[in-house]
Amino acid sequence: MNGESIRRITRGLRFRLAASYALFFALLLGVIGAVFQRSLSTSLDTSLREVLDQEWGSLKALLRIENGRLYWVHDRQDREETFLVARIQRILFVTDGAGTHLALSGLYRTLGPDPPGQIRDVLATEGTRWSVRETRDGQEYLLRSGVLHSGDESRRPYYVSIGRPLGDSRRIVEQFVQGYLLAAPLLIALVCFLGWLLAGRALLPVVSLAAAAGRISGSNLSLRIPTRGAADELDNLIVTFNGMMERLETSFRQIQQFSADVSHELRTPLTALRGQLEIALMTAPDADALREAIIASLDDVERLTQIVRALLQLAQAETGQVVLQRAPADLTASVRGILEQFELPAEEASVRLEQSLPQECLAEVDRVQFERMLSNLLSNAIKFTPAGGRVRVSLAREGDQIRLEVEDTGCGIPEEALPHIFTRFYRVSSTAVAREKGLGLGLSFVQWIARAHGGHVEVHSRPGAGTRFTVYLPLAAEGDSARSADTVRA
Ligand code: ADP
Repeated sequence: MNGESIRRITRGLRFRLAASYALFFALLLGVIGAVFQRSLSTSLDTSLREVLDQEWGSLKALLRIENGRLYWVHDRQDREETFLVARIQRILFVTDGAGTHLALSGLYRTLGPDPPGQIRDVLATEGTRWSVRETRDGQEYLLRSGVLHSGDESRRPYYVSIGRPLGDSRRIVEQFVQGYLLAAPLLIALVCFLGWLLAGRALLPVVSLAAAAGRISGSNLSLRIPTRGAADELDNLIVTFNGMMERLETSFRQIQQFSADVSHELRTPLTALRGQLEIALMTAPDADALREAIIASLDDVERLTQIVRALLQLAQAETGQVVLQRAPADLTASVRGILEQFELPAEEASVRLEQSLPQECLAEVDRVQFERMLSNLLSNAIKFTPAGGRVRVSLAREGDQIRLEVEDTGCGIPEEALPHIFTRFYRVSSTAVAREKGLGLGLSFVQWIARAHGGHVEVHSRPGAGTRFTVYLPLAAEGDSARSADTVRA
């Protein structure tokens, strides 16, 4: 393993997670060990003090001091008492405080008599004093000192000190520490290993997510990662990732569809154009016939130009290259102007134009785009309304927005087609629609213009009865983003 791969592993999330587990565990182990060691030595100390307290009680019962001499009053046949006396005598110091030592056992001698200041203090206060002292060779002793009065009339106080070696307690604590220090690295190593396994398991979905993301290409956008059913953050991440893939796939499919539609739309007039020109070239008897063929061809060129121009405008609009020129405008005047332009086509189609407009309707909109939106809706309404029908345009203020309605008594839109009518090149496949010229781009513009103003479009339609498009626009500019989704209803 070279330096680079080691660096890659140590930088990885798995390593860092496992290392955090191990570090946390080591800290916890240290704290637990320290607490346990402290409580162990405290409880050992306490029990040693209890033993010394008991021995002090026995000492008071078994030792008499009379006229500067010690007498042990005990039954020499009682092995237990004899043993107790012998044990007390091993570490015993008795003094009168004036420099006369009544007893100084061999072990106590190795410690040396207690400091005179302490002796004076204990004799003066007649209290109990605990101390830890050490022999020259490092043996520690816990000593309990107090006062005993002589049994003669003088009732003289004597300084008495007994003790116990601390070695056993110290050894127990040391053994615990040694055992603990020996086991801790093993435990930490075990936690490192388990942490590595656990981190690997926990990161498995992330790894498969990364692998899945790596496998994605234009041809397999349908790839989804199954959730684990744990409803945790990782499942949430997977759901979000799948959602993103869903949206990507939809957009990708739309782009593919769009490219196919564009090529189809352009191919039809191009093929017609080519056919006409070829036939004219081969069969036209004279210049007049050639002229006629060229004029006919110009129609197709015009249609091609329209498609390309409309597509370009739509692309510019959708990529934010068209900036709305908003200014206060009287929409009533705008609608009247557009209605006038449509009077002739409506008359030709024998469709009655009706209007319901307020005296004045001021709003901050891009007038050109607003008029274009109304033109598209009106031209559709007239196109898809049979002779004798009626188209009604109404404009009204509703709170802080305006409502523009174009309603017709035409062929209507089938329910299943409603969600698609705003899609580029979409045209309902019916004979009534096929009869009419159209690029299938008009409503895409309507939708873009409404959204760019911060408004939205609603459509209600009943096949055979008519259609109503309602556009809602805010009265004043409030940002260019779409505020709400367009709704379609049958
Ligand atoms: P175009 O009118 O050029 O075909 P549009 O984008 O304006 O394209 O409209 C898309 C389709 O929606 C139309 O082809 C038609 O099928 C349907 N449509 C639009 N407006 C109406 C209407 N007022 N009545 C019935 N169908 C309509």
